[in-house]
Amino acid sequence: MLFKTVSKDEFEKLVGIMLESNEVVAPTRVESDVHGDPIHEYLPVESFDEIDLNYETTAHSAKTYFLPYRENLSTYTFEAGDWGQEIGYRAMPRILLGLHACDINGLLKLDKVLARDVFPSPYYVSRRQNTFVVGIDHEPCDGGFCHAVGADTVTHGFDLFLTDLGETYLVEIKSSRGYSMLGQVKTQDVSDADTQAFKAVRHRITEQFTTDLDIQDLPNLLDMEFESEVWTKWGEKCLSCGSCAMSCPTCYCYGVEERASMDWKTGSKSKRLYACTIVDFAEVSGGRNFRPDRKTRLKYRFYHQHRGFVESYDEPKCVGCNRCGRACLVGIHPAEVIGDLQREERL
Ligand code: SF4
Ligand code: SF4
Repeated sequence: MLFKTVSKDEFEKLVGIMLESNEVVAPTRVESDVHGDPIHEYLPVESFDEIDLNYETTAHSAKTYFLPYRENLSTYTFEAGDWGQEIGYRAMPRILLGLHACDINGLLKLDKVLARDVFPSPYYVSRRQNTFVVGIDHEPCDGGFCHAVGADTVTHGFDLFLTDLGETYLVEIKSSRGYSMLGQVKTQDVSDADTQAFKAVRHRITEQFTTDLDIQDLPNLLDMEFESEVWTKWGEKCLSCGSCAMSCPTCYCYGVEERASMDWKTGSKSKRLYACTIVDFAEVSGGRNFRPDRKTRLKYRFYHQHRGFVESYDEPKCVGCNRCGRACLVGIHPAEVIGDLQREERL
């Protein structure tokens, strides 16, 4: 692990260098909400001025740059008794700038499923390997509970990680390509004063978390509360819209669709992200739906996040960003649902 400091002017120069030969995706202010608060999204930028590194969160996560909502998996041609198949992966370099720790942790969870498990996805792996990740520390966002699920700090999964020390950034260098990239601008060794300033920033951030949630025993609690009325209470509110899963940095469920032209000369196979709260998610051929009601679908979403994933990978899938809570039109916030279950258990 190597640390350097870089002045903000030099960092701006570095972003200019990045833009010369890469697509750069960064937090950008796109609109304001009804209270006048800014709404940000990760979007491709053409200049440093478009970037807002002081953003609170983004409406959608950066997963779309690794798992697009819709992507073509392969195309086919059938001619003269033979057939051909074309499969393309993205190999163009991309820089994802200004990711928060929870979102980098989200990528690490996706890596476990899509890059390191029994059937790695070459589509995901090619994007992940060709994406240079620059993280940044930030103040806790409203309703976020990343600290409760251990996702408020990150130790790997990025190339460079910035902590704002005022006039400079303290930069953690995590890869050789990160080292080479940073080497293109002037940097300084870390002084004792920088170390003290870094500790003060980390302390200030930790002190600001207000969501009081303890998930230590949650997998067992979920086992015990499978039939709880809490699922009816929240499930009856759910609109089955799927916005929670679409905005979530770690939801990866998808459906595959095959199409053929009317003359049977061409065909394609495409993939679409799907959400477990949508009405036909568990429908099988013949019309049987294993999760026909809203409360069961909502419950299974929580079970995948906090029970099934723990069993497979020893950690929850959720990184506590609360994007699902913000996206939900009827106010289903994960911390409140979990809090309800914990209160019921204490009764
Ligand atoms: S379930 Fe909600 S809080 Fe957890 S990672 Fe997904 S969007 Fe964030
Ligand atoms: S966003 Fe809310 S209403 Fe929509 S499916 Fe998710 S929990 Fe249900």
